[in-house]
Amino acid sequence: MISKTFPYLLALGFLLSMGMSCEKELDLDNKITPSNFKTKNVIVLIIDGPRFTETWGDPNNVLIPNLHNRLAAKGVINQEFYNLGNTHTIPGHTAIVTGIYEDLDNNGRQYPSYPSFLQHWLKITRNNPNKAWIVTSKEKLEVLSNCSSIDWRNSYLPSIDAKDRFDKSTFVAAKQILENFHPNLMVINLKGPDWWGHHRNWELYKQGISQTDSMLNALYDIIETDTIYKGKTTLIMTNDHGRHLDGLRDGFVNHGDKCLGCTHINFFGYGPDFKMGKLINTQREQIDIVPTITHLLGFQMNQCNGHIMTELFK
Ligand SMILES: [Zn+2]
Ligand SMILES: [Zn+2]
Repeated sequence: MISKTFPYLLALGFLLSMGMSCEKELDLDNKITPSNFKTKNVIVLIIDGPRFTETWGDPNNVLIPNLHNRLAAKGVINQEFYNLGNTHTIPGHTAIVTGIYEDLDNNGRQYPSYPSFLQHWLKITRNNPNKAWIVTSKEKLEVLSNCSSIDWRNSYLPSIDAKDRFDKSTFVAAKQILENFHPNLMVINLKGPDWWGHHRNWELYKQGISQTDSMLNALYDIIETDTIYKGKTTLIMTNDHGRHLDGLRDGFVNHGDKCLGCTHINFFGYGPDFKMGKLINTQREQIDIVPTITHLLGFQMNQCNGHIMTELFK
């Protein structure tokens, strides 16, 4: 009896030790590496669909007084920032949160293939899901909270509050979540410019830009007045896409191709590890955001194709 089971026990012991050593190696790859960065929290504000020509590209910045008069001096603005993938809403947001361009269905019927930086961070840190949030003005953006990869699907999901609503309500929700849970990670979508653009309403489109500029300013104030966030939080503002140039198709009403109006977008970064009052012209793109965030937080997402935006750092 002993002689029959012994080889099996040996084999079992070998397999168990293999399993344990693999587990150990995985843990080494999937941990937070301590660094000198001060950033412990990251908030990404995605303002949906304003054109560069009505925002930072307008020489007088008339619609974005807060960014122009106050916030630009606090952080870095990259004037050469692009969506070089699909310029629809879900693909644009996906590139920003996963670091990978994908031609996904724009009606919310398809998850991104790869995990977001929030999902990845939750897996590594084993934090409570209320420490990583996605808050949006569009219900279809719920797909950002999960992915279709078999290794990740339905695990380590961030918290999500995705509803079709106006930005004022979304901003109130985001503010309450920041106060109640103090998440380390938050992605916020505000839809005003895109919503009114699609409604062909030039005046409300412009108002949407001004309103989201005020909300960016309010977010800055929340970080600066909250003792948990102050000095430890990086804020990034960007866009999922722009809109067609004037004279191209229906101009500001729509978007989705590779014209300069659709691809040229805003980038503003502010935080304890970023330069202050710096305007840069290094060509960068949406998929560079994830490697930069994960570098700040001390982990890596190997499937990403983007690059760390080292020019932002002090
Ligand atoms: Zn959009
Ligand atoms: Zn276009």
